[in-house]
Amino acid sequence: MRMDDTICALSTPQGMGAIAMIRISGSDTFPILEKTFKAFSPRHNPSEAKPYSLVFGKMVDGQTIVDEVMVGIFKGPHSYTGEDVAEISCHGSVYIQEQIIRLLLKNGCRMADPGEYTMRAFTAGKMDLSQAEAVADLIESESKAAHQVAMQQMRGGFSDEIKGLRTELINFASLIELELDFGEEDVEFADRTQLSELLLRIKSVISRLLESFDTGNVIKNGVPVAIVGAPNAGKSTLLNALLNEEKAIVTDVAGTTRDAIEDEISLGGVKFRFIDTAGIRETEDLVESIGIKKTFEKIEQSRIVMYLFNAQSLQDNVELIRNEIAQLQEKTKGKTLLVLANKMDLIEDATLLEKLGDVENLIPISALQKRGLKELETRLTSEINLGALNSNQTIVTNARHFSALQQSLEDILRVEQGMENNISGDFLAMDIREALKHLGSIIGEVETDRDILGNIFGKFCIGK
Ligand code: GDP
Repeated sequence: MRMDDTICALSTPQGMGAIAMIRISGSDTFPILEKTFKAFSPRHNPSEAKPYSLVFGKMVDGQTIVDEVMVGIFKGPHSYTGEDVAEISCHGSVYIQEQIIRLLLKNGCRMADPGEYTMRAFTAGKMDLSQAEAVADLIESESKAAHQVAMQQMRGGFSDEIKGLRTELINFASLIELELDFGEEDVEFADRTQLSELLLRIKSVISRLLESFDTGNVIKNGVPVAIVGAPNAGKSTLLNALLNEEKAIVTDVAGTTRDAIEDEISLGGVKFRFIDTAGIRETEDLVESIGIKKTFEKIEQSRIVMYLFNAQSLQDNVELIRNEIAQLQEKTKGKTLLVLANKMDLIEDATLLEKLGDVENLIPISALQKRGLKELETRLTSEINLGALNSNQTIVTNARHFSALQQSLEDILRVEQGMENNISGDFLAMDIREALKHLGSIIGEVETDRDILGNIFGKFCIGK
């Protein structure tokens, strides 16, 4: 990726819309516009136009008018990328979009790589690495919670926390390194008691951040919930009732939901990923038994399992239901198992449920008549502790940050151990430097591997 050429890309979605936006960034932005854009008022020539202004004019290819457009003018360093930037808003026709991009390429632009605008912003020091990553999260955010966390990270909340820890550690590292300069003389510039206190504090901050990843992961990727139950218990109907749309296939033939269908729904500001499974009923049918194996895999990957059974079967099949519940209790240790007695609309006497004895988290519902669903939703949302989110604490959502924090915690533990064992200052300094490196990698303050950068920005869409 060359950083000195001028790039262009469509920044609005592919396809036709009312308006499309093509963005140019780089030192040749205005010279290229000189050749391809004519302002309706000559005074508004882009090179001379005021920064943050909009210029009305036409895109021209020689004598041919391609479109009438509005161009937003941003002059470096006061732009997203830190370079000269122009945002051309044209009519949304795919043909026009293509013609304008072709025109820009012909006149010296190169197509931007995915995430290249944000990568340039990072390189120009407009944002640090974790903020750049938050831009991608913000674009992808689908729920209130995901939006809030990405926004906080983009605005630098997380970075500030990491920077604070680093500054304190850097001070200590320099004092210890100063001691080394005095070699033989037995001096101690870095107060060991203070260093211990600092390490304790850093450990507790890192541990809190590491713990937040559990919530962060849920916020970013959604809470996986497996729906398990015999064919015809009403799993698809329940899913549809929750989703309020017909995505899963609902039929009367037993065993039709063979493969797992996933759907997402936002409840209480959090995304839940419902996975409709084939149930766990024992069967001779090969296809179905593969489905059952998959069900167990899905249970494994879930955080919450909803076991759904037809309440009517309590009349003659209590043992079977009890059995399945017991089996699932066994398989869902450490997860939450909700037991849903469905089709309650067909049951005249609700005391029938007593046949099951004491079952934890038993919720009577009617998926068809949408009864008991509010209680179910409340139960689901109460499973997720958003305490950290509500108190505006930093939440780690990014696996790369999580792993860097884990490594820095190990480094800090090594420093602590080293102090206990009275190891020499140069070894202490080395471990502190390692911790600094790992913390710095989160915000990109240490030199970041090109592969890692490629990996981070490659996941962006083109045009961002
Ligand atoms: P699945 O195989 O577990 O996915 O079950 P389906 O959702 O396909 O439902 C099987 C049948 O039971 C369909 O005819 C549904 O309309 C019916 N059904 C599902 N839930 C209820 C309910 O709460 N009450 C009644 N009366 N019928 C239901």
